[in-house]
Amino acid sequence: MIADPTLAVLTYSGLALLSAGFGAIPVALRQRLPPSWLGWANAVAAGLMLGVAYILMAAGLPRTPAIGATGAVLGIGFLYWTHGVAGTQELDLDRLGDPAPDYGYQLLLVNTLHAAPEGIAIGVAMTLSPWLGGFMALAIAVHNVPEAAVLAAVLKSRGLTLIQAAGAATATRVSQVLFAVTTFAVVAAAPGLAPWALGVAVGALLYLVMAELLPHCYRQAGHTSIALVAILAMGMVVLLAAGAP
Ligand SMILES: [Zn+2]
Repeated sequence: MIADPTLAVLTYSGLALLSAGFGAIPVALRQRLPPSWLGWANAVAAGLMLGVAYILMAAGLPRTPAIGATGAVLGIGFLYWTHGVAGTQELDLDRLGDPAPDYGYQLLLVNTLHAAPEGIAIGVAMTLSPWLGGFMALAIAVHNVPEAAVLAAVLKSRGLTLIQAAGAATATRVSQVLFAVTTFAVVAAAPGLAPWALGVAVGALLYLVMAELLPHCYRQAGHTSIALVAILAMGMVVLLAAGAP
């Protein structure tokens, strides 16, 4: 256990960032990953994000539901607005071999935006309890692996080397670290902001799962298997969190 909580947030979210590097393993093993694998990988990530959102909701929102709900609207609104400005509202995250020049940059932008509320989830969880913060970081770290694998597979199919693709995929998680540390510092200094941060994280996570991840998954691997994989991943997180001290 790390005594200084800010250092703990930095360490945990930094380890979560590094874990994204494991996403290179499946990409290294296969010349080209089958589309159904990409669908299942994102379904695992989506399920883990649903589990994280559920735990944050259960941990904090019942105390101040109105503020939490307002925060959720802000989180969703922010993502919707940034995607609108960037023109990435309906971007497919998994077009293997798409040579469009802008597609690679758009993917990196969307993934960087995606990781930001996950950082908020880690940071705000840490203000609730060090155990919860560590657990959230672990869940996000595990989820970074399939998400990075999908991104690295797509980037590699566009001509990047494995190292470049995995490095770029891992680098999109820098926003996770920045938002985790910033959220923790701000909420620790002003605890009244905790329900707002919880709401933003929960709303944004749910929106990312429903608008960004699952629609593409369903097209790649079939509705039933995607739903079951996502629910199983969510259930694992919720069950493991039930063992909280
Ligand atoms: Zn994610």
